[in-house]
Amino acid sequence: MSKIIQLWILLPNPPDNLVDELQNTVFEFIWNRKQDRISRKTAIKNVTKGGLGIPKIREYINALKLIWVRKLKTSNHKWKSILKVSYPKVLLLEQLGSSLNVKDCHLNKFWAHVFQAYREFGRKIYVEKSEELAAEPLFCNDNIQVENRNIFYKNWIDSGVCYIKSILNEDGTFMTVKRFTQKYDINTNYITYIGCVQAVKSYIRKTGLTVEKNKSTDLTKTLKIIYGAQKGARLYYEVLIQTNSKPNCCDKWDYKLNLDINWNITFKKIHKIREIKLKWFQIRLVHRILATNVVLMHMGVENDITCSFCKKERDAINHIFWRCDSIKPFWEQLQIALNDRGVNAVSITLNESIVLFGHDVNFRSDDTFDLIILVAKFFIYKCKVKKIIPQFHFFKQYLRNTFEVYKHNSKVNMSYNKFMT
Ligand SMILES: [Zn+2]
Repeated sequence: MSKIIQLWILLPNPPDNLVDELQNTVFEFIWNRKQDRISRKTAIKNVTKGGLGIPKIREYINALKLIWVRKLKTSNHKWKSILKVSYPKVLLLEQLGSSLNVKDCHLNKFWAHVFQAYREFGRKIYVEKSEELAAEPLFCNDNIQVENRNIFYKNWIDSGVCYIKSILNEDGTFMTVKRFTQKYDINTNYITYIGCVQAVKSYIRKTGLTVEKNKSTDLTKTLKIIYGAQKGARLYYEVLIQTNSKPNCCDKWDYKLNLDINWNITFKKIHKIREIKLKWFQIRLVHRILATNVVLMHMGVENDITCSFCKKERDAINHIFWRCDSIKPFWEQLQIALNDRGVNAVSITLNESIVLFGHDVNFRSDDTFDLIILVAKFFIYKCKVKKIIPQFHFFKQYLRNTFEVYKHNSKVNMSYNKFMT
């Protein structure tokens, strides 16, 4: 699909409703035209961040367009001269914020969209250090507004006043109007200057930072990131889709288990699973969308909400995989077998966190161990569906068969040596 989108961005103006429609089609495909099982906000996240890595099309297109902002710095092609004539603000790219007024752009819609993408990117960048704050541009910056509008004072720019640091004294305090007009030899009135200072002060308050000196980085943080990428647009895409929110499942598990689960490790481990069937299984387990009898009864498939193994307790993911009395002997035998064979360097004591998420504090596993636990859970789930209590000797056979299949696949994929290691 990425190839289609790459071709598509060459169109001057991909219509918004078409982008929305395509995005909906992607989600409908994933969930087989049924209701979404994982929120879209979570699903678009990278797998290592707890998502499904589903592409967010508008952001994907924007990320590709940002490559052209980078090319303004790195390319010496003739198109640059044409652009500079038709849109002179480009010459001030490093002096201005990312909110260049795209209505000014008479050249063509393509460039208008590039600068629109640049603006949206700029809104996702948050300064975190005093030096980055001081390097923030005063003009065309959505964070610095007077009467709800961005400002642009051409005579200030001509005199070299472009950044927050330009109006700061050595100690980080703001210049007086007198000092400002004298230093830059600018003819500006008191109200204009104070209006700008107030807007900057209000922005600084929002960042929670304090400016102690007028030292700054050499570029705005936005451009530093854009120029910093060597190639491609992945980095831009990651910035555009980033949110601080955790997937919903994290809070639910934390509340339910009362364990200190490191979610970063959990999601990284999912990312490492190569076999797609097992990966999807573990995603469903972690995101709590694996069908339990409670859900199946709700759907009218089952007529009982109790566990398929013990038939006593209410069915739940952590119950069938760990807490159920009928499943305990299975894990005990697996633990003995793992320690006998020395799969891990140190002896292993399985627990709920290791079984469900593949890790625990103070416990380091390896790929083989992770795979065995994962296949064991998958085996248990298959038994649950068939309503038979998992037997360890059947599992051993199942594991052997699974390894044979992987061995064969690794030969096909030319990764046999890696597999054998
Ligand atoms: Zn049970």
